[in-house]
Amino acid sequence: MKTVQEIKVLKSALSNARSAFSRVGLVPTMGALHRGHLALIQAAKSQCDFVIASIFVNPIQFNQPSDFENYPQTLEDDLKVLEGQGVDMVFMPSIKEMYPSSLGVSLSFSHLEKILEGKFRPGHFNGVGIVVAKLLHLVDPHVAFFGQKDLQQVHVIKALVVGLSFDVEVEVVPTVREDDGLAFSSRNIRLGKVEREKAPHLYEALVQAEQDLKTGQPWSHVKNSCRKSLENSGLVELEYLALVRLPEFRLSEKYEANSEFALCIAAYLGGVRLIDNVIIRPTS
Ligand code: AMP
Repeated sequence: MKTVQEIKVLKSALSNARSAFSRVGLVPTMGALHRGHLALIQAAKSQCDFVIASIFVNPIQFNQPSDFENYPQTLEDDLKVLEGQGVDMVFMPSIKEMYPSSLGVSLSFSHLEKILEGKFRPGHFNGVGIVVAKLLHLVDPHVAFFGQKDLQQVHVIKALVVGLSFDVEVEVVPTVREDDGLAFSSRNIRLGKVEREKAPHLYEALVQAEQDLKTGQPWSHVKNSCRKSLENSGLVELEYLALVRLPEFRLSEKYEANSEFALCIAAYLGGVRLIDNVIIRPTS
């Protein structure tokens, strides 16, 4: 496995990759790898004959400096994991390498900027968009892998790919969960013992809400009881709980069984912000 830190070296190492391999796969990560990341790597390995992973904690996508400063970094372990998975190359640039001077460009993603993650994390999707655009531009993969765990991010990336004409397929990998339902996240290790015990409530609440919608209860009712059950469980400070119509990713006040929707949640547990979602597939 080759590790590369410099853009110049990356470009020369990949100069003929797209023609030399039939399918180059890119898996962008911020490191602190867990089983969710592994599912992306495994999907890439099964579909591609050359897999490159990136590890870069992207400062410009953090809207809170303390979140960036406390972001877990486990580089040595990450490299062992990637090597064990048979990854061909890891791009792990420094901040200076990616952002040698102050940024003179910004991206915006219409309505996606104004709701849920876009609304509560101002500037976040600009940062995500810029780093993903740079990675796609530098690596030029046939396919790039992202997790359903960050569902709104998937929609931002699809908008980026269409909007800037990147010649890449976006592959979405289902969310990988702990046995108790908590979605794997690099931030989980920052949860205290009590918060960790409460954390599966987020997914339980989503699953319950999905069932209630499917039995015909109105969204306003489902939302209220979901909110109450989370608040009663203590420690969970809900930021949003939303019904989203897919594939447009627009907020909806009404569920219809013959269309695709998602339920999206964000909550703080003892200062750690967690997000999760479930997709409700059409029944007919
Ligand atoms: P991150 O390192 O948090 O930026 O995540 C890198 C990629 O892994 C993103 O595409 C995430 O959506 C994806 N990912 C993170 N957690 C999970 C999970 N539990 N299951 C599946 N994919 C995930």
